[in-house]
Amino acid sequence: MIADDELRGALCEVGRRVWQKNYVASNDGNFSFRIAENAVLCTPTMISKGFMKPEDMVIVDLQGNQIGGSRKATSEIKIHLFIYQRRPDVYSVVHVHPPHATAFAVTRQELPKCVLPEIELFLGEIPLVPYATTGTWEFAHSIAPWVENHDAFLLTNHGAVTVGLDPYDAYYKMETLDQYCRILLLAAQAGDWNRIDHAGMMELLRVKEKLGVPDPRGVDFCAPGAARPSRPRPFPNRFVPHPGPITDAPKLSGTSPFAGAAKHPAGLSALDSDARMIVDEVLRRLAKK
Ligand SMILES: [Zn+2]
Repeated sequence: MIADDELRGALCEVGRRVWQKNYVASNDGNFSFRIAENAVLCTPTMISKGFMKPEDMVIVDLQGNQIGGSRKATSEIKIHLFIYQRRPDVYSVVHVHPPHATAFAVTRQELPKCVLPEIELFLGEIPLVPYATTGTWEFAHSIAPWVENHDAFLLTNHGAVTVGLDPYDAYYKMETLDQYCRILLLAAQAGDWNRIDHAGMMELLRVKEKLGVPDPRGVDFCAPGAARPSRPRPFPNRFVPHPGPITDAPKLSGTSPFAGAAKHPAGLSALDSDARMIVDEVLRRLAKK
């Protein structure tokens, strides 16, 4: 069976996009496109996804036997095949290691619900799938409890998977997922996030229903008093000023630029006001020692 260049080109284009977005490093990631009842076009192993050519693609059947292409199929194809076996509505799978989503996967934190409309409308709930060794059937089957009703998955200590009608649809879901995680991480630094209230969520669920994608979660997940998801641990901010007196600062010496500044404050005039404030603060703390 020969898949046409348009099908192969779609996988190459998704490869360029995930590479440009830093969703993959080195030869990471894999994507596939179901092109017939028992044939899946997929990316090969050991190749940067940013520089693939149509002829690099391989074809496997739903049992994982390679039936086309000269390169070797990715060992992670098993999770793709498991999804195709369970989801006749899915025609493409994208698996990458996007840094923001993977940050939640390695810290094993469930993503909060009811925070951004785009997530509720286009992704719904994103399960955190238990860890399993990559490339094994155990890894493929790890998503079994969620595969029927979810389109995006965080893989514990690994990365993420999205599914769709074609490679672009699955890829856009991956963009949406990583963008969401990025916003959550930024929000954790800026303050905290707030949930959309129950009335707002009911409205979103009605919109979703009109779009023809009823939410399998019903309304319980957004009911008032529903358990609030955990918030990511805030990053230690390395730019926060030291809260107490500096105890390990070097003693002033004649050659220290700060020493010179202390003797000749007028020499600071060339510094901008921020730099002047920092120097003043350092001098103040050193003077207290
Ligand atoms: Zn992987």
